[in-house]
Amino acid sequence: MSFSLHGLGVSGGIAIGHVHLMSSTSLEVDHYQLPEEFTDREVKRYERALDAVKAELDRLETDIHTTHRGEGSGEMAAFVTVHRMILDDPSFSMTPKETIQRTACNAEWALKLQFDEVIAHFDEMSDEYLRERKTDVRQVIERVIAALSAEGGEGGQGNALPEKLRERQADTIVVAHDLSPTDVIQFKDHQVSAFITDLGGATSHTAILARSLAIPAIVALHTSRELLREDEIIIVDGTQGVVVVNPDETVLAEYRLKQHQWQLENQKLARIRTAVAETLDGVHIELHANIELPQDIDAAIESGATGIGLFRSEFLFLNRRDLPGEDEQYEAYRRVAEGMKGRPVVIRTLDIGADKTLSGPDQLSAASALGLRAIRYCLAEPAVFNTQLRAILRAARHGDVRILIPMLASHGEIRQSLAAVQRAKDQLKDEHRKFNDDVPVGGMIEVPAAAIALPLFLKQLDFLSIGTNDLIQYTLAIDRTDDSVAHLYDPMHPAVLHLVASVIRQSTIAKVPVAVCGEMAGDVRFTRLLLGFGLRDYSMHPANLPRVKQRILQSDLAAIEPQVTRILQADDPDKVQSLLDKLNA
Ligand code: PEP
Ligand code: MG
Repeated sequence: MSFSLHGLGVSGGIAIGHVHLMSSTSLEVDHYQLPEEFTDREVKRYERALDAVKAELDRLETDIHTTHRGEGSGEMAAFVTVHRMILDDPSFSMTPKETIQRTACNAEWALKLQFDEVIAHFDEMSDEYLRERKTDVRQVIERVIAALSAEGGEGGQGNALPEKLRERQADTIVVAHDLSPTDVIQFKDHQVSAFITDLGGATSHTAILARSLAIPAIVALHTSRELLREDEIIIVDGTQGVVVVNPDETVLAEYRLKQHQWQLENQKLARIRTAVAETLDGVHIELHANIELPQDIDAAIESGATGIGLFRSEFLFLNRRDLPGEDEQYEAYRRVAEGMKGRPVVIRTLDIGADKTLSGPDQLSAASALGLRAIRYCLAEPAVFNTQLRAILRAARHGDVRILIPMLASHGEIRQSLAAVQRAKDQLKDEHRKFNDDVPVGGMIEVPAAAIALPLFLKQLDFLSIGTNDLIQYTLAIDRTDDSVAHLYDPMHPAVLHLVASVIRQSTIAKVPVAVCGEMAGDVRFTRLLLGFGLRDYSMHPANLPRVKQRILQSDLAAIEPQVTRILQADDPDKVQSLLDKLNA
């Protein structure tokens, strides 16, 4: 039977292919039968995972005693104790092993069954304290699942993802309840032609990665994981946000034609790769690329980008249980600097937290978007920050490298960040290491406080880059990753437009270079609007760059500016939309 599903199209294009149902790093795990003779081995695998988690907790406890003496250490130690008790409880130390033996299922599935059982009891409890221990149980189970994944075997998650994809055909369409950026970054090395998820928002890092991979993607489909079957044929129209399941021949032919037209259009756009980005009235515009990994520079150069405006360095830190050391990071940054042959390379320091989480043993829990994220994390973990800064300063000898600090909100954070850069330089100097002493340090404007108190930032930083994804999230109080509020995430909200316009205007007056590196920069609907605000430096996914360049080549600044002033003056959203439509006509 053919039917269609509607969600939020977050990356354009059309894919036609076979469904592959995938577990994500949440507690949705695979279920498969083992041959009888493998059950003992699976029980041993489960026992080793439990031992690994116990060892993690031991390490954590030692760490708390040695480095976190004082305030909060009692609570942290209690937390470890609770987790150890949960792990030792027969519910988790014994029952899953019996389930494996009895039903010959994989360890992850046996653990998940037990988790569901235990959680159901928690929900019935009237004691609020005990009910809240549900989170602890979940955290412990997540640790065991991560350890099972590190163990290998058929049914692990996270690191096991590529193994399963490797066997798949090129027309694989991944269908998942949810996918983390950690999952999607692994698609870079595999043949995934599209993905769809039940959860997610348009500017979550999962969606951003889809655009970076230039594959169609739809999020917020709610029930796709339940309704779709392995290997079923589906069409994903990422532009319209539509999934067609089991299409008949007529529909297939129609979408094949659309797919062909999309490809032709992209080929046509590729011809302007070497054209200089200039408006009709001769104003030059810099179009830079956003990248996640060093190998992405090939796509950046291919798209005609004249620099890297945002290297999201945190992706070097994901999907691993340790942190990359100074030399490893140095090699990665050097590869980008050299590859761009003297063109600007803006390396953003570690922006971990919110939907991007480290998976090492010491990571107690994921920080929320309002928690210990980005520069807050780096200032709380000076050794991690120092290692990265040293690596960037060393790599900066090999190109035009700049340092960008994410999520700055206050004077104190700017001061401490600059002091950390200076400290890293002093160390390198003392050690007689080669490095670039003259690396510009900029800040991301993505917290409303920074946009409002901009003079503070203009005075101390060498350049600014507006992160519209977070600026919108924090201005409108809309979680970027939450599909239930995705319809409220509005780049056209007057508050957002005024903040963006004001940051560009003030920076231009102060002669401090300013760029936009959030998703607005790569969305052609906003190209002229941003031009009219005075923006001359855009950074976006390579896949978006040709379209934006084409729009710039067709734009006349003198005509745009008065229209943009009218948009800023309008307060009625319908009026704003109709003025924007006129601007883009
Ligand atoms: C932004 O917030 O706009 C941005 C570019 O950073 P990220 O999307 O990685 O949070
Ligand atoms: Mg951001």
